[in-house]
Amino acid sequence: MTTQLHPALGSAARAFLSRTHQHLVDGNLLAGETGQRTDILDPATGERIATVAEGSALDVDRAVAAARRAFDGPWRKVPAAERTRIMLRFASLIEANAEELAELECINSGKPLPFCRNGDVAGIVEMLRYMAGWTTKMGGETPNVSLAGEWHAYTLREPVGVVGQIIPWNFPLNMAMWKIAPALAAGCTIILKPSEQTPLTALRLGELALEAGLPAGVLNIVTGFGNPVGAAIAAHPGIDKVAFTGSGETGRRILQAAAGNLKRVSLELGGKSPVIVFPDANLEAAAAGVCSSIFFHAGQICAAGSRLYVHERAFDEMLDRIKRRANAMKLGHGLDAGTDMGPVISRRQLDRVAGYIHSGQQEGATLAAGGGTCGERGYFVQPTVLTGVKPGMKVHDEEIFGPVLCAMSFESDDDLDRIAAAANATTYGLAASIWTRDLARAHKMASRMEAGIVNVNALSSPDATLPYGGYKQSGWGRERGFDAIELYTQVKAVAVNLNV
Ligand code: ADP
Repeated sequence: MTTQLHPALGSAARAFLSRTHQHLVDGNLLAGETGQRTDILDPATGERIATVAEGSALDVDRAVAAARRAFDGPWRKVPAAERTRIMLRFASLIEANAEELAELECINSGKPLPFCRNGDVAGIVEMLRYMAGWTTKMGGETPNVSLAGEWHAYTLREPVGVVGQIIPWNFPLNMAMWKIAPALAAGCTIILKPSEQTPLTALRLGELALEAGLPAGVLNIVTGFGNPVGAAIAAHPGIDKVAFTGSGETGRRILQAAAGNLKRVSLELGGKSPVIVFPDANLEAAAAGVCSSIFFHAGQICAAGSRLYVHERAFDEMLDRIKRRANAMKLGHGLDAGTDMGPVISRRQLDRVAGYIHSGQQEGATLAAGGGTCGERGYFVQPTVLTGVKPGMKVHDEEIFGPVLCAMSFESDDDLDRIAAAANATTYGLAASIWTRDLARAHKMASRMEAGIVNVNALSSPDATLPYGGYKQSGWGRERGFDAIELYTQVKAVAVNLNV
C-alpha cells in the first residue's frame, strides 16, 4: 500500500507522518521486539498515512520497567510545584504546535478540522492546565481522632504508582490527555496504549512532554493491538492501576485480567444516552444540539444523544427540524473546508453501523432520514434518523457508535417518573440531556436520570472541572475534576501516639 496524504495537510504534519514511528519507552524511541508494523489509515480515503510499531508483551515489560524506575527514582523526588511547571510547559508546547496536532487528529480520526482545533487541541490544553493546578492542592487532612490520650493523626494523599492507560480511537487527543494529565498531577508514571487505529497524536504528545522536561520513563507509549499490548497491560503484575475507555466487552476482559494482582480499575464504557425534549423547549436549539451530538463525529461519541424522546405535541416539528439538518449536512474529508461530518473510523465500523440500520428496519423502525453509506472511498454513513423505535430492538438497546438517531415520542408531560423510566430503560448510564424552559421540571428530571452526566438545554458540557463517567454499565470512576485525581491517588492514614 502506498502512502497518500490529503493536499491540504500542512508541512509540520507531513514531516511528522514521514518519520518512522516507534514506541516511546524511557525517553527513547524503541523499535519494538517483533519489528512488525501496523498501517495507519485516513478513514476519509482508506489510504495509508503512516505505519507504527506493532507492540508485543515484551515491549510492555520494557515500558513497565522504565515506568517503575521513574516512579521509584526521579519522578517521586520532583516537588509538586515543579510537576506543575512541567505540565504548564507541556500545555504551552501543545499550543505552539496546535495546528500540526489538529491536522494529525483530523486526518487520522476523521473529525472536521475546526473541531480538532477548537475542541480537541484547545480542550487538552485546558485539561492539562487545570490538572497542573492540583499538584500543589491535593494534600491530606488532619482528622479529629477520639483515641485515648493524645494523638496527632493525618492523612497523606499519595500516587497509586505505575498506571496503564488504554484508550479508544474516537477522541485520540482528549482520551490521552484525560488520562495522562491527572496521572502526572498525582505523581504516577504511565504506560499509555493508544488505539491501534489512531496512535499518531499520542506519539506526538509524548515527544512534546519530553521537550517540556518530563523525566524519561514517566510517560511511556506502546502502540499496537488490544491483544497483545492492551491485554499485557491489563494483566501486568508490575502495574498498579489500569484506566480504560472503550467497549463494555473489552472493559470486562480488562477487569478479569486485572484481577491477577488486584490492580485498581477505572472504566469508561460508552452509553445509549437519552435526550428528552418537553414541548416548552427551544426546539431549534434542541434540534441543533441533538444533531451536533449524534452527527458531528459521525456518532462516535460515548455520550452521544442517541435516543431522542420528544413530547408528542412537539414531535413532528422537532423531527422536521432534525431531518432538515441531517439532510443538509455536508459529508467529506475533515480537512476540506465546509465539512460538517467526516467518516466513521474503519470499514469494520461502517459495516457494523450499516448492520444496525438494517436490523432497525427489519425490526419495524422507519427510516426518516439517511440510512445509506456513501462516497466512492472512505467510510461514510449518512446522518440517519429512525422512527417507530421500541425497547427490545437492537437499535434501541445497543450502542451503535454511528450517526444513527432513534426518535421516539411520549404522551403526557405530567408524569416525570414515567418519562424518566423510559429514558432509563437501558443497561447504560453515561449521559442524559433535558430540554425545557421550566426550571423546576429540569431539576426534577435531573434527579431522576440514571446517568453520570446530565445536561439541561445542552447536549455536552466539555469542561475540565466536571466529573465525567457512568452509572450502571457505563463504567467505574470519574475522569475530569478532582475525581480524576482520586483515581490516581491513594490515601494513607498516619496516627502518631504522643503519649509514649
Ligand atoms: P473499539 O475498538 O470498538 O473502540 P475496544 O474496547 O475494542 O473498542 O478498544 C478500545 C481500546 O482497547 C483500544 O486501544 C484497543 O486496542 C484496546 N483493547 C482491545 N482489546 C483489548 C484487550 N483484550 N485488553 C486490553 N485492551 C484491549
